[in-house]
Amino acid sequence: MKPVSLGPFPADGSHTEAVARDATDPLRRFRQEFASPDPDLIYLDGNSLGRLPTTTIGRVAEVVTDEWGTQLIRSWPSRWWDLADEIGSQIAPLIGAAPEDVIVADSTSVVLFKLIVGALQAVPGRKHIVIDDMNFPTDLYVAAAAARLVGDTELTVVDTDGVDPGDAIVAAIDSQTALVTLSHVAFKSGYLYDMDRITRAAHEAGTLVLWDLSHSVGVVPIDLRGCSADLAVGCTYKYLNGGPGSPAFLYVSPAADVENPLSGWWGHQDPFAFTTDYQPDDSIKRFQTGTMPVLSLSAIEPGVALVCEAGLEAIRRKSVELTEFFIQLSDRLLRPSGFSVASPRDAGRRGSHVSLCHEDGWRVTQALIADAKVIPDFRAPDNIRFGFAPLYTSFADVHTTVLRIVEVFQGTILDRYPSTRDSVT
Ligand SMILES: *Cc1c(COP(=O)(O)O)cnc(C)c1O
Repeated sequence: MKPVSLGPFPADGSHTEAVARDATDPLRRFRQEFASPDPDLIYLDGNSLGRLPTTTIGRVAEVVTDEWGTQLIRSWPSRWWDLADEIGSQIAPLIGAAPEDVIVADSTSVVLFKLIVGALQAVPGRKHIVIDDMNFPTDLYVAAAAARLVGDTELTVVDTDGVDPGDAIVAAIDSQTALVTLSHVAFKSGYLYDMDRITRAAHEAGTLVLWDLSHSVGVVPIDLRGCSADLAVGCTYKYLNGGPGSPAFLYVSPAADVENPLSGWWGHQDPFAFTTDYQPDDSIKRFQTGTMPVLSLSAIEPGVALVCEAGLEAIRRKSVELTEFFIQLSDRLLRPSGFSVASPRDAGRRGSHVSLCHEDGWRVTQALIADAKVIPDFRAPDNIRFGFAPLYTSFADVHTTVLRIVEVFQGTILDRYPSTRDSVT
């Protein structure tokens, strides 16, 4: 199908504004660091799967051909054994952590499980885990499973609908709270918690906090040490651009007395002694379990390097400008077609994606992808998420996206699509 054609730009100055902002954007040179085989495609799903950094192509080829193909098992001691630790150290400055307190291991769901069980075992006798209804489903499922396994602990799922989520969480924390675990940025609405405030409230009640940084790492400045957070996990394949299924990172504060409940040989003090008893390593390596997926682990490095090079201050500034611009244009041009903004309007409480609600959201998403060359994603029942990755999203992308949405509502494009959802979106 042919992409929809854009009519003349609206005479509201928005096109000129987009062009001018791109011309003075201090991050504009980073766009060319990412593979973009179709220059007409506007990719707004970097909050789900970041784009491919071009240096990753060479890096992965080198790992396959040289490190695996030629060096074979000799690459374990020379290169691979400490790689998860090294990449953890590279991620550390992005989350306000010391290099020795961060490591890459397993998927986000699995590291969450390890840290939640570890936290519950560290604070025995308390009755509930405070979590909210905005959290990513896997976080809720994993927390419930961990609570069942450890026993005598239940989830308190805080209802955030129509209230200030920060106030609601603080009100739910009491002396029986074993753990507070939240997504720093909520995956659906993009709501951004005040990490300092929540962490302080938890500590006043004598409990631990575990932050899931999946939707904030690489795009929102984070200061885990500054607010004395205890535990954190996060994805590497979203704003860090590590590639599909790249393993997650975890942070454990040196002050937190938490152990890894899934003790495997990679967490052992001396794995190559091959002894029959488990002795955890003293370092953050004790949170590893088994052999790392070296190919996808290696692919994390180039994306993290780009984020570090650009700097989180500049990234956050542009992220706020992009989301503000999108919200302004949506209010002006999309409201008449039935869209409403479902993300916080206060930029200080918003991550880097904006959700628009529309009763025909699933159809609109399909038409945008197939006919308009815009890739957002859909979250049931009616949210279309538009993710703005400041390293490769331009102001012109934001502007063109809004015009293409307007275009989709003209004519009969939407009628071509079913109103019920496929399985993977
Ligand atoms: C993306 C995301 C995950 C994904 O977990 P996986 O184990 O990598 O599938 C988990 N939690 C949050 C908050 C996320 O945004």
